[in-house]
Amino acid sequence: MTGKIAVVTGASRGIGRAIAVDLARAGADVALFGRDEAALAETAAACRAIRAGARAATHVVDVSDEAAVNTAIAEVLAGVGRIDIAIANAGQSKDGLILRFRAAELDRLIDVNLKSAFYLSAAVAKPMMKQRGGAIVFVSSIVGLAGNAGQSAYAATKAGLLGLTKSLAKELGSRNIRVNAVAPGLIETAMTSEMPGQAREHYLNTIALGRAGSPEDVAPVVTFLASDAARYVTGQTVVVDGGFLM
Ligand code: NAD
Repeated sequence: MTGKIAVVTGASRGIGRAIAVDLARAGADVALFGRDEAALAETAAACRAIRAGARAATHVVDVSDEAAVNTAIAEVLAGVGRIDIAIANAGQSKDGLILRFRAAELDRLIDVNLKSAFYLSAAVAKPMMKQRGGAIVFVSSIVGLAGNAGQSAYAATKAGLLGLTKSLAKELGSRNIRVNAVAPGLIETAMTSEMPGQAREHYLNTIALGRAGSPEDVAPVVTFLASDAARYVTGQTVVVDGGFLM
């Protein structure tokens, strides 16, 4: 993907950071979206370290803010003139049984996990149409496919991303814009660091490969979907969970 320009949201840490570094390794120049300037700068340094000549720019943006997303995309276009790849990775989790869940918490999850992906897609669709091609990848979750007690709000946002994947694949396919999703399983990041021991044990006992995944296990799958090697793949969800769901 030499010379391609990729936007990655939530690039300051975890899976987003690994995706940014892997895209840079594969030849892309990256625009890193996130809220923490210092952490984004560290990801940018890691991208430059993995491939001499890799360009990495940082953009402080809350992805749930439509105007902020539009401004950041306009900045990328003003700087490098095109966007070939967009990875909607930023997300938050909030567990809770439905009887205790507050409307404000539900709104926040929908804003950050689902509406953000919609905003990003809308912002990149125009330049991608003009360029006659592009690739969008959403980071969903196996919870969006299978559901999970105590995670109904999070699961609903992640399932929503799968509807968005298929609809946009159909809507944008004739313009050579591909839209796919990955559905990671249990991945060791800040998001899962406080998972209760019993839930972790259940996962580990069920994962065929017998271990939790790392962000670096997910990133190459995203890179593949974003690359020309996946040029005839669209509307799909690739599960990256070590064989948890089968
Ligand atoms: P993480 O908490 O380490 O990273 C999340 C990233 O998103 C951070 O960089 C955070 O700053 C950013 N972010 C959150 N809200 C934001 C906002 N409003 N604006 C901009 N950036 C924001 O967690 P992670 O595990 O790396 O999660 C990355 C994605 O992977 C999420 O969408 C998550 O739902 C998904 N996922 C994670 C797992 C897992 O087991 N870790 C499994 C399935 C899916």
